[in-house]
Amino acid sequence: MVRYHAAWILPIAEPAIRNGWIAVDRGRIAAYGSPGPASRYGFGDGAREVDLGDVVVLPGLCNAHTHLELSYLRDEVPPASEFVTWIRGVMAARRSRPDPGGPEIVGAVHRALDEATAAGTAIVGDISNTLITFEPLARSALAAVVFYELIRFNAPDPAAVVEQAQQRLELLAPTARVRASLAAHAPYSVAPLVLRAIRKAIDRQPFLPCSIHLSESAEEVEFIRSGHGPWRTFLEEIGSWDPAWVPPGGSPVDFLDDSGFLDNRVLAVHGVQMTDADLRRLAARGTTLVTCPRSNGHTGAGAPPLAEFYASGVRVAVGTDSLASAPDLNVFAELATMRALAPRVPAASLLESATIQGARALGFDADYGTIEPGKSARLLAVTLPSSSIDVEEYLVSGIESAQIRWITGADGDN
Ligand SMILES: [Zn+2]
Repeated sequence: MVRYHAAWILPIAEPAIRNGWIAVDRGRIAAYGSPGPASRYGFGDGAREVDLGDVVVLPGLCNAHTHLELSYLRDEVPPASEFVTWIRGVMAARRSRPDPGGPEIVGAVHRALDEATAAGTAIVGDISNTLITFEPLARSALAAVVFYELIRFNAPDPAAVVEQAQQRLELLAPTARVRASLAAHAPYSVAPLVLRAIRKAIDRQPFLPCSIHLSESAEEVEFIRSGHGPWRTFLEEIGSWDPAWVPPGGSPVDFLDDSGFLDNRVLAVHGVQMTDADLRRLAARGTTLVTCPRSNGHTGAGAPPLAEFYASGVRVAVGTDSLASAPDLNVFAELATMRALAPRVPAASLLESATIQGARALGFDADYGTIEPGKSARLLAVTLPSSSIDVEEYLVSGIESAQIRWITGADGDN
């Protein structure tokens, strides 16, 4: 057993503890607390005592939405003022690059995993259209759900689309930490009957989460309401328009909820265009809203109404989105942008979003997301400029990889 002493322990499930300790045994958290009446090293239980100094110890973070397979597009897609313009940029960049299983693409996935880990990430919700990220994730130290994402607006045989996807998923062997599930791309890019078939497939599993991009752009809202606008033009241009499709009217959230798609297994990503009524509906369903504000700025979707997200009572998690729309995979950097957009949301709420909310949405909360006895000791120590600061506020001010180290209870830690 190793007992770490630190200027601060941040269990997430309770407020930060000054001059705390945490005992780790065989990779699991055994206990934690404040020093108590005994002297700092007076436990007398034979544990190895390690003083980490002016650091805060907290759970590894959850990046609840990213697309690791797009990592090779880093700095390749220029920022756009309209979402459809950005999508065109992604398609052009993908066309100019090699095949999806090529070494350039796989190499970029491995570098992205290293970068995410160095930035303090323990769990990812990874969206994939090719499943090439499953193997690298299974061999990494990260926990993950790989969402096999379907994108098919014009689908003559919707059941077959989902059936084929499930057959591909069955070929993947889940590990203790890495699972695969299904995702729909978005309500404007997946046919209603494909959405229904995905939802049915998810319902047949004991617990697997599902994901969908939702209410990201003004173009999406217009398309779902009226069937017109830049998205309709785009679908026609790429030959994916379905003349039999009838616009559902209402908001994208109304459409998905009326279709029976939303519940507490769903991660709804972005929500930039959600109204208060939309947020109330998501909260009532127990759906987790994953915010990726840096990506929203880059793609032209706009700034997410974060204060409204938190005021609505909806569960909020955090994602970086892909390196095609974000400068890095650092969840702490995403938190700093959230803090700038929502100065009145408590830092503790933002930190919950980056830990337990994401872990719960992805089904990893039994092992991750808080410091509690029995949970995995996949913990971060973040160097502080001084021990007498507001640590929660400091953690949402932008933390760099150089300030972060992992502690695991192994002998190398100090
Ligand atoms: Zn995304």
